[in-house]
Amino acid sequence: MIPEEKLIDGKTISASVNAETAMEVAELKEKHGIEPALAVILVGEDPASQVYVSRKAKMCVELGIRSEKIVLPKETTQEELLAVVDRLNKDASIHGILVQSPPPKHIDEKAIVEAIDPEKDVDCFHAQNVGRVLMGERDGFLPCTPWGVTVLLERSGISTAGKNVVVLGRSNIVGKPMAALLLGKGVTGDATVTVCHSRTKDLADYTRRADIIIAAIGKPEFLKGDMVSEGVVVVDVGINRVPCETAKTGFKLVGDVAFDEVAPKAAKITPVPGGVGPMTIAMLMKNTIRACRRQNGL
Ligand code: NDP
Repeated sequence: MIPEEKLIDGKTISASVNAETAMEVAELKEKHGIEPALAVILVGEDPASQVYVSRKAKMCVELGIRSEKIVLPKETTQEELLAVVDRLNKDASIHGILVQSPPPKHIDEKAIVEAIDPEKDVDCFHAQNVGRVLMGERDGFLPCTPWGVTVLLERSGISTAGKNVVVLGRSNIVGKPMAALLLGKGVTGDATVTVCHSRTKDLADYTRRADIIIAAIGKPEFLKGDMVSEGVVVVDVGINRVPCETAKTGFKLVGDVAFDEVAPKAAKITPVPGGVGPMTIAMLMKNTIRACRRQNGL
């Protein structure tokens, strides 16, 4: 058994973030008569995407945010999807818009993201918002999963300043924006950041020297015990379905970290599930409130 104080508890920390958001929503409604609203578009029937969209809609309801869930058939054309985005861009009662990733293969996801009004881009995927993050802006939209990781670290009393932080993965959604936040100046930055990917040679040489490792590569239990040093802090972003005979569903969720091997050496570590996952939705809700405030000049 891993001692409880070693665990970075995403459930508890996300609950505190959500409680703060619910208070902000109540204030927006009572003081200003504004109801924050998020539109979530799902194209097709990908089961994992359906789960994510439902979770986002449910969290909106819990926090008092109005959610508009738009489910489109998998045959929806690029033009039809762009028309929906255009309608939502023009609708002043909608403050945030997101298109659940990944859309069906015939859809050009980049073009869709770029069509979303940057002021409503609560996923922080639009080039304009990504650029602002890279330039060091922290009061606009922030990328949900990486932002969630920084909040987990900060609220667990782990400073990143001056630390050697190794990010595993260089995707546009996690790895790259994660590195940008850690590299920036300020409380959740000031780190010395190394980003490793599938072409990195001798990856374990980097992870063994790391004070903090953020794993986001999508490979079940990739980071093994012999790849880390004693006292490391490990944040596992990975969510991988692996077959499991004893589970009713036939599968279980594991991260990118071999938890049983790494946890005994780690000073602190996130579990999967119950680590980064709930933070991503919590930060999406915070971005929606930021969008609502800005669009109302608050
Ligand atoms: P991508 O598949 O887009 O990117 C994976 C990255 O990992 C790539 O940069 C790839 O390198 C690198 N990589 C793959 N294999 C290796 C390897 N053997 N050694 C080193 N690097 C490797 O994944 P995402 O960033 O979207 O997601 C990563 C994980 O995080 C997934 O498990 C995903 O489900 C999870 N996730 C969890 C979220 C949450 O809320 N908890 C949110 C988003 C994602 P290269 O670029 O060279 O191909």
